[in-house]
Amino acid sequence: MSQTKGFILVVDDEKDITLLTKQFLELENYNIISANNGKEALQIMEERYLEISLVLLDIMMPQISGFDVLKKIKAIEKYNDILIVLFSVKNFQLDIQKAKELGADGYLPKTISGKTLLDYIKKILDTKK
Ligand SMILES: [Mg+2]
Repeated sequence: MSQTKGFILVVDDEKDITLLTKQFLELENYNIISANNGKEALQIMEERYLEISLVLLDIMMPQISGFDVLKKIKAIEKYNDILIVLFSVKNFQLDIQKAKELGADGYLPKTISGKTLLDYIKKILDTKK
């Protein structure tokens, strides 16, 4: 990984979720950028993709859903080395299946504990070193 890599982009339309996730992960020394909708997320990707290693992406968002953001990201070659993990309140098999079909690198239910989230992030970032 290059020096500038390592940022995690957290995308969720609920500001409480982006804020809590940001605060929690910053305690563990992760660098976090947050976005509150799909459009903002895609704009940040365009500007800062060289710094971003991982995107935690909410599925249920107004206007542009997480699935749509995922499709757009996966269609752009320069974003190929960025891991995308979908984050949803649902944990339906159907969502997991769709996430996989669209090329997501992982899927997490929002109900997981902070510790589980942290372990997952450590593990998935290790796989791409
Ligand atoms: Mg949402």
